[in-house]
Amino acid sequence: MDNLLLARNTSTMPKTYGNVAFTPSLDTVQQVDNAEREFRRASQRKGERWTLRTPTKRNIVARLERVGVEDASRLKQCCSAFRVLTCGQHTLRSYPTFRCKKLFCPDCAAERANRLSRQTEAKIAEAMQTNKGRLCLLTLTMKNAATLDGGLVRLKKSFANFKRKKVFKERIKGYFGAFEYTFNPKTNDFHIHLHLIVLRGKFWNQSDISDTWRDVTGDSFVVDIREIKDAGKGVKEVCKYPMKPVDLMAMPDDKFLEVVRMKKGTRMFISGGCFYNVKLDADADEADDNIFSQFADLTEGDACPFCKAELFDVFVDRKTHIGLHELNAMPNVVRSNSS
Ligand SMILES: [Zn+2]
Ligand SMILES: [Zn+2]
Repeated sequence: MDNLLLARNTSTMPKTYGNVAFTPSLDTVQQVDNAEREFRRASQRKGERWTLRTPTKRNIVARLERVGVEDASRLKQCCSAFRVLTCGQHTLRSYPTFRCKKLFCPDCAAERANRLSRQTEAKIAEAMQTNKGRLCLLTLTMKNAATLDGGLVRLKKSFANFKRKKVFKERIKGYFGAFEYTFNPKTNDFHIHLHLIVLRGKFWNQSDISDTWRDVTGDSFVVDIREIKDAGKGVKEVCKYPMKPVDLMAMPDDKFLEVVRMKKGTRMFISGGCFYNVKLDADADEADDNIFSQFADLTEGDACPFCKAELFDVFVDRKTHIGLHELNAMPNVVRSNSS
């Protein structure tokens, strides 16, 4: 998907995803070939990511079971089966039959990050049509925290004070941000930071930002600000997982439990100013694993855009699902009457 969009977006304006971005016109054989080749490549990349996440997920489930966390079975069930829309040759869409929606689930975290960056990018592009300024990536960091919850509360409080500063209001027209945390096994504590996409009006240099940040935190001053040339890349940077699920495995039991028991409604994203409306608005229930969003409206009985054969739904397990993405072909799947 990335290559496809990049190739079609030579301007510096933020790219837009969704149905408007690319509609393959399949008029000639050549175009069908190119679209299909691109589709197969995107599909393959998707399969690779599913393959990579599989052992991490297995390890997390095993650990949840070992420490006796009640959610182990939900996590195990999550993304273990899929409903797939196919013509028998092309896998156009796939939905997991169940999602656990846990922040620390590698599958759900990846889905959430993808959906968030698609939505965010479109909304930022929209806000920038009426607001002028430079798009920057601003990172604010805090001294390491012994507990995740305590560290998050402190960072949120600090940012609340930061944005009330006159200098912030003068220079930042809009912001969208996400909290990220990493775990340091040597010091047994969390490093929590805030990545923000900001629309900067007047120039604001790093050392001034650092002084202001120290002012509100009392002890933390490590900040970074840089202009973003490619809005899409910047958004992806901000929207990536709040935590690498693989980090979970490096934690001792007490920290591990702290993370997996983190309150469900814990807010990991903030927005304000002209980016106020930039937030995640769709629930993961209908989250799709389709490869190109222009296939979002296709359903059973429609014609496959590549080969014109009739599309139908099948249910497959995770292993088969990964295989389908890798090959993007279902030679062994025949239409059944299962619903
Ligand atoms: Zn999940
Ligand atoms: Zn087809």
